[in-house]
Amino acid sequence: MKERIGVYICHCGGNISDYVDVEQLSEMMKDEDGVVIAKNVMFACADSNQKEMINDIRDKNLDSIVVASCSPKLHLHTFRGVAQRAGLNPFNYVQVNIREQCSWPHSDHPLDATKKAVGLIRAGIKRVARSKALENIVIDAKKAVVIVGAGVSGMRAAIDLAKMGNDVFLVEKDFFVGGRVAQSGELFMTNQKGKQLVEQLYNEIKSLNKITLFTGATLEKISGSLGNFNVSIKIKPRFINEKADEKLLNQAISECSVEVPDVFNYGLTRRKAIYKNYPEALPDKYVVDAEALKNEKEFLKKFSSCIDIYQPDETLTLNAGSVLVTTGVDTYQPEENEFGYKKLNGVITLPELKRLMELNPETLIYNNKKVRSVAFIYCVGNRQSKGKNKYCSRFCCTSTIHTSLQLKEKYKDVRAFHFYRDIRTYGKQEILFEKSSKQGDVYLRFDEKEPPVVEMNGNKLVVKVKDYITTKKELELETDLVVLVTGMVSRSDSSSLAEILKIPIGNDKFFNEIHPKLKPVETVIKGVFIGGSCQGPKNVSESVQSSLAASAKINALIKSGRISLDPIVATVDKDICVWCGKCAEVCEYDALKEIKAEGKNIASVNMASCTGCGICAPVCPVDAIQIAQYTNDEIESMIDGFMQKIELKEKSGEEEVQAEGAVTMKEYPQIWKQILQSINEKPKTIPEISKELEINNDLVTYHLMTMNKYSIVESAGLDKKETYHLYKQKN
Ligand code: SF4
Ligand code: SF4
Ligand code: SF4
Repeated sequence: MKERIGVYICHCGGNISDYVDVEQLSEMMKDEDGVVIAKNVMFACADSNQKEMINDIRDKNLDSIVVASCSPKLHLHTFRGVAQRAGLNPFNYVQVNIREQCSWPHSDHPLDATKKAVGLIRAGIKRVARSKALENIVIDAKKAVVIVGAGVSGMRAAIDLAKMGNDVFLVEKDFFVGGRVAQSGELFMTNQKGKQLVEQLYNEIKSLNKITLFTGATLEKISGSLGNFNVSIKIKPRFINEKADEKLLNQAISECSVEVPDVFNYGLTRRKAIYKNYPEALPDKYVVDAEALKNEKEFLKKFSSCIDIYQPDETLTLNAGSVLVTTGVDTYQPEENEFGYKKLNGVITLPELKRLMELNPETLIYNNKKVRSVAFIYCVGNRQSKGKNKYCSRFCCTSTIHTSLQLKEKYKDVRAFHFYRDIRTYGKQEILFEKSSKQGDVYLRFDEKEPPVVEMNGNKLVVKVKDYITTKKELELETDLVVLVTGMVSRSDSSSLAEILKIPIGNDKFFNEIHPKLKPVETVIKGVFIGGSCQGPKNVSESVQSSLAASAKINALIKSGRISLDPIVATVDKDICVWCGKCAEVCEYDALKEIKAEGKNIASVNMASCTGCGICAPVCPVDAIQIAQYTNDEIESMIDGFMQKIELKEKSGEEEVQAEGAVTMKEYPQIWKQILQSINEKPKTIPEISKELEINNDLVTYHLMTMNKYSIVESAGLDKKETYHLYKQKN
């Protein structure tokens, strides 16, 4: 039991103290069992307060501390650090959230907000009194990574990880690398061809002997945990003998007469049964479509020395410290007759148009006819308020406008019409929209409720639309091609991959990271990361950025060969456990296994997989399993603390803290000091402050708003160029 507890109750400027009576709280907490010191402080996270806490811990020989402030998501690690710097075990610290749980939601009832805060702080004190000093768990880690998906994101991450000294196993489902980018023609903004980018990355991969590439390979099973995963992959054969005579193989390719629709070209062309995705596809090796050739007995007999369609699959197990998933996306496939797709001749999708342009470098031909005009219909399968895909894929506006520019550049006389709901070619890509407008592309806005109608008028393809700008006047356009601008959807096999890896997928079926800002490439499975567009629509550079973020995180995790983990995990009391298996049944992370110990079967926790979620504890019929820092004893004591009678002195109306007017503060947080220093000489805009201090725009905005509320800074008018408020220090 801890008997020398320090309690700190934060005002958070006025975020808490405007509604919660922090003075009364600190007075009350002084009388709680074990409490040696209880203070209310203006900003608990401010440097000056942290120093004061360290001095208190040392001077008063505190054995544990409670900070009642904001969410532990924000400052748990700050105060654990304070404890550690003062020589206290960081797990003898409890954070109580009286901002998000008291002052903010109950600002209409300040007295109730204070009452709730009393209960929560008492619960925190009771819990910290029972807290145990814990040490981080240290495990060995293999300096190897399995990357699933050899699109541009996966390839780029593989190169990075290999250069940082890790072994990389790059696993690609297709027989060729490059994913969606290999299918693209010129990429915005560099106009480099997709296949050239793929070739560049592939050559780099080949030059690094730390990367092993597996093509035609799928993930079958995964076991083990962070630091030591065993990943089973199934490798499909190419059905071409390794030592095949090259001349004979070339003869087989030229004599092969079986053709099937070419999936790589979205069925716009047909390919032979012995094929490559495109002539320069990499690895530079052919593959046999065994299904298509299975009835060609004579052909197979003639070329039996080089083609063997009965080669078996191979299974391999790879051992790695971490796994990175970069499986990319599919493109939305319109329903039959959605805007005439698959029903009217001349209605295709944007990816199909791009392949068509690749296949027709000189003159754009569709169905043996020269294409002179193209009508793009935007947001097909995206932003559907009544459909499956509520989200915007964001890359498609830019991609369409870039394609429109390419049409003009390549084929000169093709006219482009854009039927759009909204358009954004954000950031550096805005220039594309400007160019497209200048080259004479016509933009017509429609409303979601009244989308364009595509139909045949005799043998002419027409698009009818109620034009938004001309008060919904109906316009009719004759065109050679209607191109449906389809967005991104998750890979069709994403659910099965998510099941194997046990990573969650969202309602949109993309893989879910833990937190889009705080942990954007981490998943709830320790050691399994996601990167690229498998986590949501992204363009090529955004995909590469996220996979590189993941590779940096992975390297930081495994580079020393040892990983230090948070000790808040489940523990089993081997004397009590009778192995009924109930805990293992509910554990979503496979962290519990049956083992033999001292002559009986009991449950054992794999610390590297356990997330400390706590689901196992309540199902144990004999209370043999507990979560560190959340033991039954601690939880029960918290309930006792919360249930104690609360007697509050109500403040008179006059005394009530008002939100208006300046507050007096002992100490501003460090970030406020930096902002004040920055605007001391002359008023500055938010982007200017953000740039100078190298602090994110949103954070500067948030703090300036709070400082403004407390009359520390004031607005100094509008900056014409930026149309952002200028801020100056209030005198
Ligand atoms: S952000 Fe800082 S000042 Fe605000 S509640 Fe948290 S610790 Fe206190
Ligand atoms: S539920 Fe309890 S008794 Fe059953 S195996 Fe798990 S820890 Fe042991
Ligand atoms: S706390 Fe229990 S249920 Fe949760 S991951 Fe750990 S062992 Fe599994």
